[in-house]
Amino acid sequence: MGEQLKGGCLCGAVRFTAVPAKMEMGVCHCSMCRRWSGGAFMEVNCDSVEVEDKTDLATFESSDWGIRQFCRKCGSTLFWMMKDGSHAGVAVGAFDDPEAFKFTTEIFVDEKPSNFDFANPTRKLTGAQVMELFASQQGPQHG
Ligand SMILES: [Zn+2]
Ligand SMILES: [Zn+2]
Repeated sequence: MGEQLKGGCLCGAVRFTAVPAKMEMGVCHCSMCRRWSGGAFMEVNCDSVEVEDKTDLATFESSDWGIRQFCRKCGSTLFWMMKDGSHAGVAVGAFDDPEAFKFTTEIFVDEKPSNFDFANPTRKLTGAQVMELFASQQGPQHG
């Protein structure tokens, strides 16, 4: 069992406790995450996410397999999840301590806008490489 970490949205209506799979964060540059998050989606893969009060937690079905959740009141980007519950990506910026994680991975780098780059030394995967990992059940596919 990993560490239980707390976080929440901008207005405080949605508060959660999450257990990261590793104390690592990744960035997804896919075009869906870009529009949803307003930039690059910085996320932490979590084994569990417990929301204290789901009254203001809104859900958008972005694909046949994925949902994206956010605060209905303030619009904060919060969780990307597989519908079957096999994967939960929690927005790094929603954690009370976003500095707890090591920045290790960037995915869908082939969809990243060309006018910026992150300076951290990360493992970089294209969308096709992510799909390969997903097919072998070792990684998440965004959607
Ligand atoms: Zn809120
Ligand atoms: Zn994505």
